[in-house]
Amino acid sequence: MSKLDNEIKYLKGVGDFRAKLLNKLGIYCIGDLLEYFPRGYINRKSSHKISELEVGKHCAVVGKISAIDKRVLSRGKNQLNVYISDGEDYLLCTWFRNFKYLENIISEGKNLWVSGIVKEFYGELQLVHPEIEVLDETSDTEDFWHNRSVLPIYPLTDKITMKQMRTMIYNAFAKYHDAIEETLPDYILEKYNFAPRKIALQKIHFSINPDDVPKYKFRFAFEELFYTQLMLARVKKKHQQTKSGFQFQLKRTYTTRLKESLPFQMTKAQKRVIKEIVQDMNSTGQMNRLLQGDVGSGKTIVTLFALLLAVENGFQAALMAPTELLAEQHFLGIKSFLSNQPELKIALLKGGVYKGKKAVKEQIKSGEIDIVIGTHALIQKDIEFAKLGIVAIDEQHRFGVEQRARLAGNSHPDLLYLSATPIPRSLAMTVYGDLDVSVIDELPPGRKPIQTIWKSSKKKPEIYAAIQRQLEAGRQVYIVCPLIEESEKIDLLDAETLYKKISTEIFPQFKSELLHGKMKTAEKDKIMQRFKDGDTKILVSTTVIEVGIDVPNATVMMIEHAERFGLSQLHQLRGRVGRGSEKSYCYLIGYQPISSEGRERLSTMQATNDGFAIAEKDLEIRGPGDFFGTAQSGMPNFKHANIVRDQGLLKQARILAFEIVQKDRDFSLPENKILYKRYAQQYKWREKLFEY
Ligand code: ADP
Ligand code: MG
Repeated sequence: MSKLDNEIKYLKGVGDFRAKLLNKLGIYCIGDLLEYFPRGYINRKSSHKISELEVGKHCAVVGKISAIDKRVLSRGKNQLNVYISDGEDYLLCTWFRNFKYLENIISEGKNLWVSGIVKEFYGELQLVHPEIEVLDETSDTEDFWHNRSVLPIYPLTDKITMKQMRTMIYNAFAKYHDAIEETLPDYILEKYNFAPRKIALQKIHFSINPDDVPKYKFRFAFEELFYTQLMLARVKKKHQQTKSGFQFQLKRTYTTRLKESLPFQMTKAQKRVIKEIVQDMNSTGQMNRLLQGDVGSGKTIVTLFALLLAVENGFQAALMAPTELLAEQHFLGIKSFLSNQPELKIALLKGGVYKGKKAVKEQIKSGEIDIVIGTHALIQKDIEFAKLGIVAIDEQHRFGVEQRARLAGNSHPDLLYLSATPIPRSLAMTVYGDLDVSVIDELPPGRKPIQTIWKSSKKKPEIYAAIQRQLEAGRQVYIVCPLIEESEKIDLLDAETLYKKISTEIFPQFKSELLHGKMKTAEKDKIMQRFKDGDTKILVSTTVIEVGIDVPNATVMMIEHAERFGLSQLHQLRGRVGRGSEKSYCYLIGYQPISSEGRERLSTMQATNDGFAIAEKDLEIRGPGDFFGTAQSGMPNFKHANIVRDQGLLKQARILAFEIVQKDRDFSLPENKILYKRYAQQYKWREKLFEY
């Protein structure tokens, strides 16, 4: 234990009450406080003269408060005006809300530092909601911060003042600076020209030259990324060493017959990815591979090839899908791809109790069945395989780590995870950094890009006219709505109301049906089947059609309340069309008010069809935390690194980490002693979250 692990409440001036407040900021021990970085700095020396301020520019001014004027406006709204003077001119600072705390700390005659964007208001220079700092709050000349020219500004929560935070940081340094240990070996510090940890921390909190700070912060972001990559590299190496998998040989029986009977040519990307998979399955280790490809890129056929490779070696293969609809579709699709190979036994396994299920389970156990396609039902305890060689998991992110582990069981089958949610490279490198990755980055030829149009709800008649033309040409249409039924709470168009309107007023001449998640599976399947068969022309639906449904004749996807959907979801929905040879359209209907984030999403959808570009944007807008439950993935939360901003750094950290682990997995070389210590303290326990 290092002294830096001491609980924060024991620091001078903290105690139980403040400790709780600090916990909210993620500060639990002394070390956390030392790593709590300022978000900016006040520089008293580089403040501007009021007479030199320029409208529209960012400024920082130090002045004396000459007047405070609080006004009550109409409807209970208040406004606070504070004039400050630098001895020559005046600057007006205005607050419209949340200024109660201010009233308590400012008074005429005090010196104030203010910073913000300069505006002009009836000929006066004005800052609205500026950052502020009362400078002579204390006449305590013993106070370290009293006459500092540069002051750090920390992100705060209620009830902790800036002054208290600065004092705590100072106290922590004064008492514990000797306990700050280096966490990166010399050879890494030298390689990247990083400052030693202690110096970097000092510069960040007590800088007199804020322009230099980014250079010192850099190493903390690197450190987080680097140690995470060490963890992934260690997991992967251990896996390669200890888990022996099956060594399949390309016998060219079922696989070759599949290839010869395909009604199309594989794309270059599909061929390349199949080669990668075959190589992996040929090797002695267990395959752990993520197969990424945008919707419609043809992952199914690649997967089937891998399944058949196991089957032609005398093993069984399983494909797990997140919904019954999808499992059934895979089942039918795979059966038709294999219709010229009747000797292959293919079965569907669904959840619940139904006729014939017991027989299927027995045939799985006896080894009679070669390929099983199913839902979660596949991982129930009562399912036993005679000789399972490979498992493919579709839409893998919908399954938890645990479920994946259960399917892998004790027999170490090869694992292929499929993902149609294109994962930005940087995220894949962290969340799936222990897997190998194959990417199908090409769509089959002849696909026309989907034209995406974002319209305001007022323009719906225009959209309906365009949809009518498609219907008259024999095409089919999806209309998606976020809610099933009317809600008292939110004023949104719901699928039931919309369906009534579509079927009776807008398009009574075309057959439409309603599909939603509250329906029984059998009913949903029938509705879906009628749509696939072309009997139904318009499918009004909630997002249940999101995954994997394949109806090539559907050329229109209209999404109501598109402003309420996330980017990845919009992209998935759009992927339901554009699967045939006809040009397809995606209409995004936005209802006011639309947030600026919402607008950004909609215009991104209009601008690109590229799933990877969309995923990058999604990550940028939402942040890595939410992207898809990174919390359950076992990844640490990054305090300093940002995998969108720091992609270059991540790549370097990864290369270095994998090199080190390749040579010295247990950090036993003398130069890696520091790594050993830090890793054991902070990272080792996480490794178990990655076992499979
Ligand atoms: P996804 O990657 O979204 O799962 P699918 O495997 O369902 O995509 O493929 C989408 C459609 O494209 C299917 O109808 C499939 O048969 C077809 N397809 C796959 N590969 C090719 C190809 N190389 N050329 C033409 N069509 C293809
Ligand atoms: Mg698919």
